[in-house]
Amino acid sequence: MKKRFFATVLITVVILIGLLRIARREESQFVGSSDPKGAVPTPLATETDAAEDPQAAAPLPEPEKTQHLDQETSIPPSASIPFIPFFSGAPYQEINGSIPFFGVSELTTEAFEYYSPLDELGRCGFAYANICEELMPTEPRGEIGMVKPTGWHTVRYDDLIEDRYLFNRCHLIGYQLAGENANPQNLITGTRYMNVVGMQPFEDRVTEYVRRTGNHVLYRVTPIFSGENLVASGVLMEAYSVEDAGTGVTFCVFIFNVQPGIVIDYASGESSREDPESAPEERTVEGYIGNLRSQVFHLPTCPNLPALKNQIIFLTREEAVDAGYRACGNCHP
Ligand SMILES: [Zn+2]
Repeated sequence: MKKRFFATVLITVVILIGLLRIARREESQFVGSSDPKGAVPTPLATETDAAEDPQAAAPLPEPEKTQHLDQETSIPPSASIPFIPFFSGAPYQEINGSIPFFGVSELTTEAFEYYSPLDELGRCGFAYANICEELMPTEPRGEIGMVKPTGWHTVRYDDLIEDRYLFNRCHLIGYQLAGENANPQNLITGTRYMNVVGMQPFEDRVTEYVRRTGNHVLYRVTPIFSGENLVASGVLMEAYSVEDAGTGVTFCVFIFNVQPGIVIDYASGESSREDPESAPEERTVEGYIGNLRSQVFHLPTCPNLPALKNQIIFLTREEAVDAGYRACGNCHP
C-alpha cells in the first residue's frame, strides 16, 4: 500500500519534472502546476535554490524581504517537522526558521484547494490551498455540528474555559479563507485554545493580506498525529505569499493542540483536569532525528542533535536508512 503510494508519487514527480522542462522551454510565466496532486509531498525533492531559478520569481521587482523557498517541490509536511515540540506555554513554535516547506515549482496564481482523503483511522491529512479572493466565502458559515472528527468528545469545563467547551470542530483551512464548511476532510478535534489563541491570528493575517492586496497565498495546514492517536498533537501551518515572494506573508509554525489546565489523552480524546500537585510528565518521543545537512540520524535523546531547522523526522530506523542516512556514532540509534 505504502509502496504503491510512493510509486505514484515518484511517477507524478517524474511527469512534473518533464512538464516543468517543457514549460520553461515555452517561456511561460509560471512553472507551477495547478494540479494540487503536484503538491503531494515527496521525499525526492531536489535541492534547488529559489534565487537561482529565474522562473521562480513573480514578475515583480525583487522585494527587499524576499523569503526564498529552499526546494523545488514540497517536503512532506509530516516529515518536515522535527519531534512534536514540547509545549512550554506559548501557543505556537516556529519551525524551519518560519520558512514553509513549499516547493518553488508550486508557486502559481491559479486558485486551488486540496483536502487529503481520511486515513484508515478516519483522520484528516493536510489541507492545501492557494488562498485568494476568489476562494473566500460570501456567505456566513453554516452548521458543522454533524461532523464528528476523530477523537471527538463534547465536554465542557465551565470554570476553566471561557467558552466552556474543550473541543471545537476545528477547520484546517479556516472558513474565512476558502469557504469550506462541513467538509470532514477539513475538520479536526481541536482545543478552543488551539483554535482561537493558536490558529486564528495566523488565519487573520492571511485574510487581511489577501483582502488588501488581491494577491495569492500558498497555505497548507497539516494535523500532526503521534502514532495512532485520534487527536492531533498540533497542526503545522505554512503560508507564503506568491506575487511578492513571501514579503507580505511567510510563516511556518507548529500550533499546539492543548488547553491550559486540562490534560488530554490524545489516543482517545478523553480529558481531565490537571492535577496541580503532580509533577509534569516526562515526555517521551518516538522515532529518530536526522540531520538534513550531514545526513546522520540520532536518537531524540542524543546530545548532538542538529539545529531545529536542519532536523527531519523518521518514524522508524528503516525509514532513516532507506533515505540514505547514517547512524550517529555517539548515540547509536
Ligand atoms: Zn547521535
